[in-house]
Amino acid sequence: MEWIKSLSTFFVLLVIGLLTFYFFIPTNSVNYVLQESQGSNFSLSQTTNDSFQFYQNMRYSDYKISYRITGCPIGKKDEMKRAIAYIEDKTILQFYEVVDSEEISVTCDNTLKIEGSAFIAGEGGTTNVTKTNNFNVIDNGQVLLLRETQCAEPIVASHELMHSLGFQHSTNPSNLMYPTVDCRQTIGDDTVNYINKLYSYPSFSDLSFENVTATIKGKYLNGNFIIRNNGLINSENATVIVYSGNSIVKKISLGSINVGYGIEIMFENQWSPQISSDESLRFVIDARFNELDKSNNEVVLNEKK
Ligand SMILES: [Zn+2]
Repeated sequence: MEWIKSLSTFFVLLVIGLLTFYFFIPTNSVNYVLQESQGSNFSLSQTTNDSFQFYQNMRYSDYKISYRITGCPIGKKDEMKRAIAYIEDKTILQFYEVVDSEEISVTCDNTLKIEGSAFIAGEGGTTNVTKTNNFNVIDNGQVLLLRETQCAEPIVASHELMHSLGFQHSTNPSNLMYPTVDCRQTIGDDTVNYINKLYSYPSFSDLSFENVTATIKGKYLNGNFIIRNNGLINSENATVIVYSGNSIVKKISLGSINVGYGIEIMFENQWSPQISSDESLRFVIDARFNELDKSNNEVVLNEKK
């Protein structure tokens, strides 16, 4: 009865083979789509006046901003320090002096610059700005003081300091940011409120998903997405976890992502025995650190019908 034994063995192997084939070999592919567009709790609406700044929502990463003064005679250095005290007194901003790697660089020059018929008293601006979905994050600003102020108040240095915070000129002659100096000029209440609102957001990173797509073929998963940091500081290490129902299908370590940067992650034919095409797919950013918004850390994908 050797031949019956052989035939039985053959059929057993055939069944195992077919089951293996069914289990391992991709059959029909199922496309997954985002369940709903990811609404964010985080909204930074431009309030009253969107012409305050060169770009929308320009700020440094923290309300404590470092500065360094180099090459300035005592009088101009003193005016700069009084300007800093003035802005600190009016707003929630704080400034601290460093010897290198400063955010705002203050320098001085004695050369006479003339524009039209007016002397240029100083210059100020931002030199390095990173655009994100939420803010335009200022990495560096500069102030150049050319002439001593003739006023009791540090009008010129304050004006240039405001430029280095991203503020542009005002059309109101009594405002500090009016293009020509008048000793009675002050920072307006609307500007003060704007600064305090802008810097009320803590100095956190904010990772979020973009362009998430996934396909299931049998027990294989294909995925493609971008993680972007729309926060104010570079992110720490985080992990993306992909769930099918409650089962973990895949974990991907992200590493640090710089402000404004995104990384694209793509995986193909990821063997996922736990996957079920009856369940929705969830992509979750597991970030063990503070973020501006945690609600954008999860997206749910359902079968495209
Ligand atoms: Zn100016």
